[in-house]
Amino acid sequence: MPADYYELLGVSRNATQDEIKRAYRRLARELHPDTGHGDPEQETRFKEVARAYEVLRDPDKRRRYDMFGPEGDGANGAAAGDPFGFGGIGDVFEAFFGGSPFAGRGRGPAGPPRGSDLEVVAELDFEQAVFGCQHGVVVRTAVECSTCGATGGANGAAPAMCQECHGTGQVQRVRQSLIGQMVMSSPCPRCGGSGQVIADPCRDCRGEGRRVEERTYTVDIPPGVDTGSTLRLSGRGAVGPRGGPTGDLYVHLRVSPHDRFARDGANLLAELSLPYTQAVLGVSVPFDTLDGTEQLDIPRGTASGTVFRLRGKGVPHLERRSRGDLLVTVVVEVPTELSEDEEEILRRLAEVRGEPVAEPPVGLFTKFRSAFK
Ligand code: ZN
Repeated sequence: MPADYYELLGVSRNATQDEIKRAYRRLARELHPDTGHGDPEQETRFKEVARAYEVLRDPDKRRRYDMFGPEGDGANGAAAGDPFGFGGIGDVFEAFFGGSPFAGRGRGPAGPPRGSDLEVVAELDFEQAVFGCQHGVVVRTAVECSTCGATGGANGAAPAMCQECHGTGQVQRVRQSLIGQMVMSSPCPRCGGSGQVIADPCRDCRGEGRRVEERTYTVDIPPGVDTGSTLRLSGRGAVGPRGGPTGDLYVHLRVSPHDRFARDGANLLAELSLPYTQAVLGVSVPFDTLDGTEQLDIPRGTASGTVFRLRGKGVPHLERRSRGDLLVTVVVEVPTELSEDEEEILRRLAEVRGEPVAEPPVGLFTKFRSAFK
């Protein structure tokens, strides 16, 4: 996961625009390339901070970032791509108990690490995706242990500073190598990198300060999402151990197909079957759109494949107020079964138009065949 923009700027998620501006100015002064004497790490951080500010300074972009995460600040709406490429959402345990405890955090002193980001797939009906909805998702997630108040210590005892690493979470070892002495930094083996140790761990959470529970969250699905869209619920991921900050929850959307409509971006596609008489003579027919029934005026002489565009009856654009169009393609039906009357009228029509046609199959309408001979 890319670094969180709020964390990069060192502000809270509900910081005012003014606070964001001040935080950026302070960091920009501190990290500006002119003061770094070519330190590449500082330069990278400066660029990250600038990118974060670029998004958070703009209330619109900030709202989209809060909703969709870093992918959401682009121009293409919600993050596209393979939504199911992430490895095994079933193994949530590994998701929040494995990996680096400092992933996504700044290089500050050790404190309780941030909890992991979680991912879940939400299945939506076609209409729910088009018009938006409230959708419940169930996640198995780490929540604060209520027995110890998330401290991890029995009877709520606060953890003590680790004597091995003096609370830094890191230990340094000097190694001899071909090019001389190298100082290697690694997570402290005694406290596992947290900088803290618990003398008497809480029995309910074994000192983790959190436990796994099932939670249901209601997700606001904005109109216009599609399969491949990802929403971010900030702070709805796993809680960190011993009261560490929570990660985010990423909701990947999968939309079921509709039996009458297909999507082409913001446009809806549908077909209208018309008997050939109506296609030839014209007709006004009711057509059911997703918004209700519309009267479609089919002019005389409409060919199969003609497309009628119903403006604004398509899918809402994610970023704009407007909607796409509904494109209705006419399919002229050719009957395979004819009554005796129809056969007679059509043969007369062919005769009038001077169009040669095949003889009817033997045994069909013998009475009427003889009438023509
Ligand atoms: Zn506990």
